[in-house]
Amino acid sequence: MTDKLIRATAADGGIRAVGVISTNLTEEARQRHQLSYVATAALGRSMASGLLLASSMKKEGSRVNIHVKGNGPLGAILADAGLDGTVRGYVQNPEVELPPNDQGKLDVGKAVGHQGYLHVVRDVGYGQPYSSTVEIVSGEVGEDVAHYLVTSEQTPSALLVGVFVGADGVTAAGGLLLQIMPKASRDESLVTLLESRVAQLSGFTPLLRAGKTLREIMQELLGDLELFVFPEEHEVSFHCHCSFERVLGALKMLGEAELQDMIEKDEGAEAICQFCGEVYQANETQLAQLITDLQINN
Ligand code: ZN
Repeated sequence: MTDKLIRATAADGGIRAVGVISTNLTEEARQRHQLSYVATAALGRSMASGLLLASSMKKEGSRVNIHVKGNGPLGAILADAGLDGTVRGYVQNPEVELPPNDQGKLDVGKAVGHQGYLHVVRDVGYGQPYSSTVEIVSGEVGEDVAHYLVTSEQTPSALLVGVFVGADGVTAAGGLLLQIMPKASRDESLVTLLESRVAQLSGFTPLLRAGKTLREIMQELLGDLELFVFPEEHEVSFHCHCSFERVLGALKMLGEAELQDMIEKDEGAEAICQFCGEVYQANETQLAQLITDLQINN
């Protein structure tokens, strides 16, 4: 199944729902960064959350950054997602593995840490990005992002994100975001109804693994509430906008002396993109060209 995102409304427009399947892009991140099981789950949940949050933005080029900074062994996690359906991200310590928790599940909470901060930046492409920070509730990512939406954006929300990763890699990943729209936000009965429906779901990935589609999951959850699923399916994928040109630009900023040093000692330079793990190599000729550029501009 391809990765995609779909949107829906229910309860006379009072409820907004977005669902995403992100299995392939999570597997791509796992391979690119050689992520452990628990790191795959943590980054996969963060990337699915980012895509769900970005989907509600209006301006073309808008992006959401989810920065999880817990006190656990994984270190910082960053997911950068766009309204255009592209997402990239990394985990500071991708090799960290932990034993399963009491329920036999990947212990994402412990790996991320039960204390720390969740930092969300919404960038519409111009002006000052809107950013907000909340304390981590559990380190399970989904719960933390939902807590952010409720406290910081004051939108009653339920968020389910999940990643299933086994010996063969990621076999199911995705998420579901349900929000009460502003016009209905004072409708307590709707909030209670949504909470009880979500509580009945046994997580998101078990449904995906059972072969359910996004539409079927939404139908199961909101089918009796005038559910309307929009026909468009939006493609989502792992994509990083790094390039060799950008790497050369960064190298140039090091200055003439440093570049000369690289030519003499290393006969070139190697740079690895933190977001996607792509390796870029600049040879002596290319470094020498940068020095010439610097000299011309001076
Ligand atoms: Zn990159």
